[in-house]
Amino acid sequence: MSVTRQEVLRKIPSVDQILLWPRVQELNKEYSHSFLVKAIRETLNQLREEIIGRDERELEGIRLDNDFFLDEIESRLVSQKQPSLKAAINATGIVLHTNLGRAPLSGEALEQILNVGKGYSTLEIDVRTGERGSRYQHVESLLCQLTGAEGAMVVNNNAAAVLLALGTLAKGKEVIISRGQLVEIGGSFRVPEVMEQSGAKLVEVGATNKTYLQDYERAINDQTGLLLLVHTSNYRILGFTAEVELPELVELGKKHNLPVLDDLGSGVLLDLGEFNLGDEPTVANRIKTGVDVVTFSGDKLLGGPQAGIIVGKAQYIQAMKKHPLTRALRIDKFSLAALEATLRAYLEPEKALKELPLWQMLSLPLPELEKKAKKLAQGLRKVVGSLGTVTIEKGFSKAGGGSLPLQEFPTCLVIFGPEEGKVEDWAAKLRRNNPPIFTRISKDKIILDPRTLGKNDYSAIYQAFKTFGGEQK
Ligand SMILES: *Cc1c(COP(=O)(O)O)cnc(C)c1O
Repeated sequence: MSVTRQEVLRKIPSVDQILLWPRVQELNKEYSHSFLVKAIRETLNQLREEIIGRDERELEGIRLDNDFFLDEIESRLVSQKQPSLKAAINATGIVLHTNLGRAPLSGEALEQILNVGKGYSTLEIDVRTGERGSRYQHVESLLCQLTGAEGAMVVNNNAAAVLLALGTLAKGKEVIISRGQLVEIGGSFRVPEVMEQSGAKLVEVGATNKTYLQDYERAINDQTGLLLLVHTSNYRILGFTAEVELPELVELGKKHNLPVLDDLGSGVLLDLGEFNLGDEPTVANRIKTGVDVVTFSGDKLLGGPQAGIIVGKAQYIQAMKKHPLTRALRIDKFSLAALEATLRAYLEPEKALKELPLWQMLSLPLPELEKKAKKLAQGLRKVVGSLGTVTIEKGFSKAGGGSLPLQEFPTCLVIFGPEEGKVEDWAAKLRRNNPPIFTRISKDKIILDPRTLGKNDYSAIYQAFKTFGGEQK
């Protein structure tokens, strides 16, 4: 019989004893007393639980020395002060990675967030009259200028924009939508369910792969309130398909005196054809069809902050601004500040291409990506040594975020094949690095795409591989 559980538990110092240790007295100066006491208490509780949970025969090995307690308490204090939402390194080559925060912001957008956030701002005040203004005043005329629309407003995100548009234009009425479009957006996020929260009733017409104008027309009755088109941006049903195009739907809406809503998802303000970046319709082209309302995201192909942008006929925009839901869905001042700066960049399209990280990354030419890949491979080879192979291969990046689904952007990939350790372990360690590093994994290889890497990311990646390489040895 060695030690009993009771004996081990009795050896644990009390909170008051620990508070007298010199190093803890130091910590008491650095952290507030109650925060420190809480950390000590939690450390001791965790240890007690571990002792109670262990088999008695395994209690010998348990550490109860002062250094152990100090380390535990300190790391608890430090980790509680660490942010959970961290800046991360995106080596996936997916430019609009929804789980990694979609579009990185331009320098000007960031500056505006800082400017507006550190003090007061003209958020809802009219500087000419000193009277109450509208937060939309900062972006409305910009949006009208950039899209040709009569009116504009912005809300929290595009899901909110669609909710508000339906709630305003079709509450208690039927909304006709093609089945193929509804199926498509039903995948990862339940937009159809969000839509029904508006009080509108979705009426699906057509088949998954084919919907004709007659399908819409046949479904119209005196309960119908709106015709809805959802841009098929998550993926595209290819091949044997038919969808009604916006101009035809607008025509049908006019004939039956019904508003038409175009959920564009990823709104583009630049003519991408001009830059060889795909064939996404621009918002301006949609507005030109005479459609009543168009909604799109601020953080997809606009390259700005999370936001839902609504543009269209003045009477409808006016009605939406007055809708009670608007108060619940409103955009916050930081997003608004960043959105305004992002939109201003588009006043000069060449500038938008240069200044917005989204377009910088998407338009990177292959020779430049090759250069970056070579640099990355070289740096990696130095730190991984015999732990794995580093090679370069041609491949493709993706726009991501449900945007430009068919567009593949040629890139140069750096491939790490570990000789030591499993590929999942390497990837997990990279993820848990500070800053966290996200890569692609394919079979037994880790793939890094330099397209989405910033200047400072390279040294952080080398450091991480070096650290984990050291642990593997
Ligand atoms: C992305 C998307 C949405 C949702 O937009 P959020 O800004 O993420 O809320 C809705 N509809 C379509 C067609 C989309 O592509």
